Amino acid sequence: MRFSSLGVLALALAASSAVAQTTPASTPAAQDAANQDPAAVHERILTLDTHLDSPANLDRPGWAMTDRHDVHDDTTQVDLPRMIEGGLDGGFWVIYTGQGPSDATGYARALAHALKRLHQIHDFVAATPESFSLATTAADAARIAASGKRVVYVSMENGYPLGTDLANLEAFYQLGLRMAGPVHNGTNQLADSTNGDPVHGGLSDLGKAWVKEANRLGIIIDASHASDTSFDQMLALSKAPIILSHSGPKALHDHPRNLDDDRLKALAAKGGVIQINSLFLSPNLPRPGVDALRPRMAEIDTLPPAERAALMKEWAKANLAEPGSASDFDRYMAAVFHCIDLLGVDHVGIGADWDGGGGVAGLTQITDIPKITQALLARGLTPAEVEKVWSGNVLRVMVEVEKVAGR
Ligand SMILES: [Zn+2]
Repeated sequence: MRFSSLGVLALALAASSAVAQTTPASTPAAQDAANQDPAAVHERILTLDTHLDSPANLDRPGWAMTDRHDVHDDTTQVDLPRMIEGGLDGGFWVIYTGQGPSDATGYARALAHALKRLHQIHDFVAATPESFSLATTAADAARIAASGKRVVYVSMENGYPLGTDLANLEAFYQLGLRMAGPVHNGTNQLADSTNGDPVHGGLSDLGKAWVKEANRLGIIIDASHASDTSFDQMLALSKAPIILSHSGPKALHDHPRNLDDDRLKALAAKGGVIQINSLFLSPNLPRPGVDALRPRMAEIDTLPPAERAALMKEWAKANLAEPGSASDFDRYMAAVFHCIDLLGVDHVGIGADWDGGGGVAGLTQITDIPKITQALLARGLTPAEVEKVWSGNVLRVMVEVEKVAGR
């Protein structure tokens, strides 16, 4: 009853905003100009980023998703007030687990960590039902955004916590998981990594079974961090299109985390999408000031709150003063444009690795993202095409994944 009346309200809100958008301006030309205004377009379209590492910030003492923070004060890049300010409707919120030893203890610890992170995601959504809503189908995103809430899809970066029992993947699916990547830095039980020894020659047998299971359940397969051979095998084995939730084109910078143009064309030919990362778009720079602070940062949790905040601010300042590379906003857009020119507008999206090391000069936190919409429009994309980049393409993949799963 309560849900259906909320649904009616959402429909009423959607209808009233549709009326507002189509109210004729004084002349067709004026209406056209209003429809193309970058700020208005950004506000109107559905915007999703496919790799939000922000749930990890919930480990910070006193840090809440509903408070306004700033990258200059504490290095964080996403929270509710900044999402509202930057016009981000939501995205895929990541359960990230660092790679550890492939043994029973390692798997048990990793599973405990992943379940904790999943719980933290459910918890901030449950604590603020007026602001966030869990999304589990492609259709959910537009409905949730129309009701004025932020969209929370759950994704998993690194399948290490699944151990050797794929029943765990189904358990995570039941708890909302809708996108997953098999591997992170370091080859694991499922797949060879871009940053690890090629132990399996791509996917392990368990990794191949993982692909089938993701298809069966209806989980989007995310090949970011997987080695080129692992990528090729996932693309060949998957019955549904796959995604790169935060990767870049090798054409801009020859780095293992980026993909060559032939692989990107193969991804697109099977209906997939590359969501452009802000990392690895130019060579790494030395960071002596940042490195000098690392020993003190390792102890930060032992400090009293005031000293902790002061050190965090010093750390944030050092990180912004010495970025990891010379990449800037124009470099980020060059990666987006390269992929659009190569693959067409249906196969490119946004996954900047916020709160996971992402961000470049001029694109330092989520409040900066209206610039992306502005740059896409300036490049000549229509508002409808801009919306494909911001959400339509990943949701199209999700619909295909749902169909393959028989839903
Ligand atoms: Zn990553």
